[in-house]
Amino acid sequence: MQVLEIHQSASKDDIRKAYRKAALTNHPDKVPEEEREEASIRFKSVQEAYDILYDDDKRHLYDTHGMGAFNGSGEPGMAGAPDLDDLLAQMFGGGMGGMGGMPGMGGMGGMPGGGRPPKPRRSPDEEQDYEVSLEDLYKGKTVKFSSVKNIICGLCKGKGGKEKATAKKCSTCDGQGHKEVLQRMGQFLTQQSVVCTTCNGQGSYFSPKDKCKKCKGNRTTEEKKLLEIYIPRGARQGDKIVLEGEADQVPDQEPGDIVFKIVEEEHPVFARAGSDLQTTIDVTLAESLTGFSRVVLKHLDGRGIELNHPITPGAILSPGQVLKVPGEGMPMKRTDARGDLYLVVDVKFPDSNWNPTPAMIEKLKEILPKPEAPIVASPVDEVTYDPKGSIDDFGAQDGDGGSGWEDEEDDEPAQCAAQ
Ligand SMILES: [Zn+2]
Ligand SMILES: [Zn+2]
Repeated sequence: MQVLEIHQSASKDDIRKAYRKAALTNHPDKVPEEEREEASIRFKSVQEAYDILYDDDKRHLYDTHGMGAFNGSGEPGMAGAPDLDDLLAQMFGGGMGGMGGMPGMGGMGGMPGGGRPPKPRRSPDEEQDYEVSLEDLYKGKTVKFSSVKNIICGLCKGKGGKEKATAKKCSTCDGQGHKEVLQRMGQFLTQQSVVCTTCNGQGSYFSPKDKCKKCKGNRTTEEKKLLEIYIPRGARQGDKIVLEGEADQVPDQEPGDIVFKIVEEEHPVFARAGSDLQTTIDVTLAESLTGFSRVVLKHLDGRGIELNHPITPGAILSPGQVLKVPGEGMPMKRTDARGDLYLVVDVKFPDSNWNPTPAMIEKLKEILPKPEAPIVASPVDEVTYDPKGSIDDFGAQDGDGGSGWEDEEDDEPAQCAAQ
């Protein structure tokens, strides 16, 4: 199972996002009882991976020596824990080699070529998808999870240096925070503006002795925080849940938001369109003809849905008939109204185990409606047939036409997506 895919050029922000997502995915509520122990081991490993990737020194060790550097130094992997190398590879889609050497990714993230963009007044929002089951969207849900974020250093208030110290102008970039470098692109040399690694794009820095003791000149420190998101009942695919100001803090900027975008998990029983639900119910041939009174379906909140058939004496249920149940669809946000439930009837005909006597069959002929008037034609050929034909073979003998048509059908299962 993938933890999260990130480009090899993952910045510290990306690493933290990956960690946050892993924290959510391994939340006990998201995992069935029997997988909980495994999930907690897995989570510990993700935590370990995060610690290594986030700490520059440890990351350097990892890049040069691999996991061996950690297993032998008082930080053993847990028994039965997944291999950390594998885990890191999953999180970042390949070797870590390229990451350690990424120039200047510590500060503001990647910078496009050509001049220094003005500093935004707000740190960027962090957006991520969040998968929610149809049951949880039906009932609503609160999810708590722990998260790690950068906050302005409490000791230096984001200055990065000791109280009386002044930052020195960076000589590498002449205080610009970025510099022009020549890069080879195929056979051409191009000039590109990159963030200055000496001052991390700040244009100035504190000498080692003047650096803030707490944040070591980084101006921010990490903080663990318990976050809580509330998914309202009736929430839909694409809805956004915003945790205001919970994104990383950046000195001199308003903190951005963490935004979760809801992705509705596919449901094995129900299909949803807006606030309506649809599913199929099975009735036997006898039930369709003679009636029944029973639970035909378990709803998303666990309630049984009972039907009484027929409503009017003598009525039957036909294959494909649609029964509309008002008010049993999805809840609508901020109201007590609900959508409707559409039940499509599937009539189960008797299978090969049904073994009626000739007398029973005569009785049925007598009871059921008579055939329509015979078709008059001349001449008449009596033919043989294969009772187990498949419509998939329809047109298949005709190379192009047959298979091309079939492939298209396979890719996109016909589904009702109307609003
Ligand atoms: Zn510089
Ligand atoms: Zn500080």
